[in-house]
Amino acid sequence: MEREAKEKCGVFGVWGHDRPADLAYLGLYAQQHRGQESAGIAVSDGRRLTGHTGMGLVPDVFDRHVMGMLGSGGCAGAIGHTRYSTFGGSLACNAQPLLESYVGGQVAVAHNGNLINGAALRAHFEEQGHLFHTTSDTEVVVHLLASPQQQKAPDPLAATLRRLQGAFSLVFLFPDRIEAARDPWGWRPLVLGEIDREGRTSPVVASETVALEVVGARFVREVEPGEIVTLSEDGVGSRRFATPADHLAHCAFEHVYFASPASVLFGQNVQEVRERLGERLADEAHADADWVMPMPDSGRSAAAGFARRSGLIYREGIVPNRYVGRTFIKPTQDERRAAVRLKLNVISEIVRGRRIVVVDDSIVRGTTTREKMQQIRQAGAKEIHLRISCPPILHPCYFGIDFATREQLIAHGRSVDEIRAYLGVDSLHYLSLEGLLSCMVRPAADYCTACWDGRYRLDPDKPETGVVIESEQMKIFG
Ligand code: AMP
Repeated sequence: MEREAKEKCGVFGVWGHDRPADLAYLGLYAQQHRGQESAGIAVSDGRRLTGHTGMGLVPDVFDRHVMGMLGSGGCAGAIGHTRYSTFGGSLACNAQPLLESYVGGQVAVAHNGNLINGAALRAHFEEQGHLFHTTSDTEVVVHLLASPQQQKAPDPLAATLRRLQGAFSLVFLFPDRIEAARDPWGWRPLVLGEIDREGRTSPVVASETVALEVVGARFVREVEPGEIVTLSEDGVGSRRFATPADHLAHCAFEHVYFASPASVLFGQNVQEVRERLGERLADEAHADADWVMPMPDSGRSAAAGFARRSGLIYREGIVPNRYVGRTFIKPTQDERRAAVRLKLNVISEIVRGRRIVVVDDSIVRGTTTREKMQQIRQAGAKEIHLRISCPPILHPCYFGIDFATREQLIAHGRSVDEIRAYLGVDSLHYLSLEGLLSCMVRPAADYCTACWDGRYRLDPDKPETGVVIESEQMKIFG
C-alpha cells in the first residue's frame, strides 16, 4: 500500500514564562524549514485553551493583532506547530495544533511524524460513528485519548501512546501542563531545554535545538524514545509509556537534508555531519575538475567537506534568489521550469569552459536536479560531475519524510548510469550507505535507512521492540 507521509513538521512548547505565545512564535520561526504549509499556536491561561492556526509561513499567520489576542489574559503555557507542504495535502483543516474538547476537558495537540496505523485506527472509530474534521492522522490521537478504554486506564495518555505505531514526536497542551512524548524508536527529534530568567526556570520542548537557542533556552537533553516529559508549575517530570526499541530508528535523512545545520540532532551537529558526508563522498568518488560548486543551499555543507578533502577549489557559481517561494507546487511543467530558473541563477563567468563538480544532498524525483544541470550546461560548463551526499532514494518513507511514491522516485527501477543520462551530466556518484553511516556517531543499527535500503522497522503488536521488515513485504498494520 503506497501512501504519502504528510506529517513532516516542527513542534514547540514552553511552560511558565510570562510571554509563552511570543516564545512559541520565535520557536516556530526558527523551525520554519521543517514546514511551510501552515502554522499554529495554542495557549493556556491556566484554566482554558485558545489558539490560532493558518495557512502559510509563521510571520504571515501571526500578525500583531493575533499575537496580541494570544498573549492577552496572562498565559501559563503555549505550544506551536509548523506543517510541511505536500502535493494535494494542503488543507486549512489540517493546520495544527488541533484544539479539542473531550471528557477530560480541553487538549491541543501538535505532531511531527507519521502514524502507520493512523488509517486503521480512524476506520475503527468511524465505524463506531465518530466524526473527524481533518484528514490528518493526528486526530485519531485525540479520539484514542477520549475513548473509554484509555480513560479507564491509570494513565490515559500513556495508554493512548501505546496504541500508536510509527513515528511521533507529540506535544500536548492541557490547561495545567504540557506533555511531550516521543515514539519508542526515536524517529523524529524532540529536545528539552530550560530558560533561566529572573530567578525562575521555564521548561521548553522543541523539535530542534536551533529553536532552543533562538528563545534563549539552554539544551538539557533529548526527550528519550518511549518517554513522556511533563512541563508544569512543578518544573519537569518524566515517565515512560514504553521501553525504547532495542535498536532505535533515528531518521538519517534528517541529517542529510531536513534539519537545520545549526541544530544538534541525535547527538551530532548537523553541519559537521554534512561536511563529513562531503569528505567521505570525495574519498569515494573523486573527480578531476577545476572547482567544486555547491547546489545552494542544500549542497553547501557537503560541498565544503568535498572541496576540503579533494583539494579542489570551492567556488559558488549558482546564486539563490531567496525571495522565490517553493517551486514544486507550480502546476505546469513550463511554470515549474521557469520557477527553478528564477530561484537559481547560474553565473556563466564562473562555469563557462570549466570542469565542475556539483555537490547536492539528494535527488528525489529528479525534476529540479535535471533542470539545474541543464542551466549549468547552457551557461557553458565543459564537464559536470554530480556528487550526491546520500545513496539513491529507492523507497517511500512511511515515517514522516515527504517523498514521492516509489514510481515517482527517479532512482526506482533505474541504474545510476540511466539516471546520469537523464540528468545530462558527465558523471554521477552517490555516497554509499556504508559511507553515510560511517559519518554518524551512533551504531549503524540505531538509524532508519529505509528510504535507501528498504528495511522498514515495524512491529504490529509490540511497538517497544521493533522488527525489520523488507520492503517487498511492507504493509500497513492495523
Ligand atoms: P529533485 O531533483 O526534484 O528530486 O529535487 C532534489 C532537491 O530537492 C534536492 O536538492 C533536495 O535538497 C531537495 N529535497 C530533498 N528531499 C526533499 C523533500 N522531501 N521534499 C522536497 N525537496 C526535497
